[in-house]
Amino acid sequence: MKINIESITSGKIGEKFQQNFSYDVNSDNNPVVQGQIFVMKTNYGVGVHADCSTILRRSCGRCLDDIKLPLKFSFNERFLKEKTESPENELSNMADAFTIEADGTIDVSQALEQYLVLETPLKSLCGDNCKGLCQQCGSNLNQGTCSCVPRLSHPAWENLRDLWENKKESV
Ligand SMILES: [Zn+2]
Ligand SMILES: [Zn+2]
Repeated sequence: MKINIESITSGKIGEKFQQNFSYDVNSDNNPVVQGQIFVMKTNYGVGVHADCSTILRRSCGRCLDDIKLPLKFSFNERFLKEKTESPENELSNMADAFTIEADGTIDVSQALEQYLVLETPLKSLCGDNCKGLCQQCGSNLNQGTCSCVPRLSHPAWENLRDLWENKKESV
């Protein structure tokens, strides 16, 4: 996603603008990230702040149901006038920063996708009370109990199993 910054490049330091964006992430899980981007001219190039929101499509880590997970995140990035190679340079701590393109634009796609990955939770559940799937028959226990009896192998559990089965029959 390229943002044209020519409107501020000839202006003074501190000159800024903002615009809305909608970015289509090329993945099945993140249809579109929308938000607002703020760009300010600085002594080294431009500083960017972005407020982003999206809806992740995931499957629940327990029951595997499809869920939609709203996600909001923000990030700040710097885009330098040109890449600095010298480690002695005062800008060396920005060596991994992005650069302004020759055509007067900045490409924020890479930054946005990096932050999106960072902010995406590793595991997500459809709800805190998700009961998950039955280990034996695979039924979704959120939709009702299945008729499986817990698999008990140790002899000490045998009595318990009898109790369990009797209870089930009397229900
Ligand atoms: Zn679930
Ligand atoms: Zn079952």
